[in-house]
Amino acid sequence: MEKKPLVQVKNLRKSFGDNLVLDGISFSLNTGENKVIIGPSGTGKSTVLNCINRLIMPDSGEIWLEDTEIVSAKNINEIRQQIGYVFQGFGLFHHLTAKKNVMIGLTKVKNMSKKEAEELARFELDRVGLTDVDDSYPAQLSGGQKQRVAIARALAMQPKLMLFDEPTSALDPELIGEVLNVMKKLAEEGMTMLVVTHEMGFARSVSDEIIFMEGGKIVEQNHPENMFKGPENERTRQFLFKLD
Ligand code: ADP
Ligand code: MG
Repeated sequence: MEKKPLVQVKNLRKSFGDNLVLDGISFSLNTGENKVIIGPSGTGKSTVLNCINRLIMPDSGEIWLEDTEIVSAKNINEIRQQIGYVFQGFGLFHHLTAKKNVMIGLTKVKNMSKKEAEELARFELDRVGLTDVDDSYPAQLSGGQKQRVAIARALAMQPKLMLFDEPTSALDPELIGEVLNVMKKLAEEGMTMLVVTHEMGFARSVSDEIIFMEGGKIVEQNHPENMFKGPENERTRQFLFKLD
């Protein structure tokens, strides 16, 4: 029997006014898989991620996380706890230290004791390579450190799925690598990840499949080697070529 995907997105459609942004998006993600979405800006990549955690409500279509349908779900907060979300702007609480940023969801949402939360926070900060910034505030951290705190915070909730929306786009070039390395490590550890990025080196070397989106549609889905060596679609070729 074929294994059921962890995530199934089926014929997702979304318009903002008369701007048709998602024009029938379908794909799936198996447990442990890492898929990267690429495509020109304004093409609906963030909208796809935002529909998955239902920050945006699609007009139609289905999104399944295992046996739960997200679009129609009543218990959206419970579902969101299973989905880690890391985006360009970090979203850290500025008045809390790095460690407290990781702990807050654990104590407030998961009702963990302070001691337990502290131990898990320490573990997750370690996992993203942050060993000596526990008591630093976001303003005292570099962009790469801030993004790694954001990743640790998401991981601490023990999500089934991690969504990354251009996690390195706001970073100075010399800080991009440390974040990509953490993401690479997570992929190697078997985390299921859906990553929107312009980092083609990451897409090529880490992802199991690349989804090229344009104009609200998936133009091509392909194994990274095939995609880079000989994209099936002319638009994919033009997009990849332009970035080089
Ligand atoms: P991408 O992430 O590929 O750059 P987005 O998903 O952010 O693209 O946006 C796709 C289109 O949807 C853009 O034209 C954008 O202006 C529009 N859009 C996104 N979010 C909203 C919103 N909340 N309200 C109105 N238009 C939106
Ligand atoms: Mg975007």
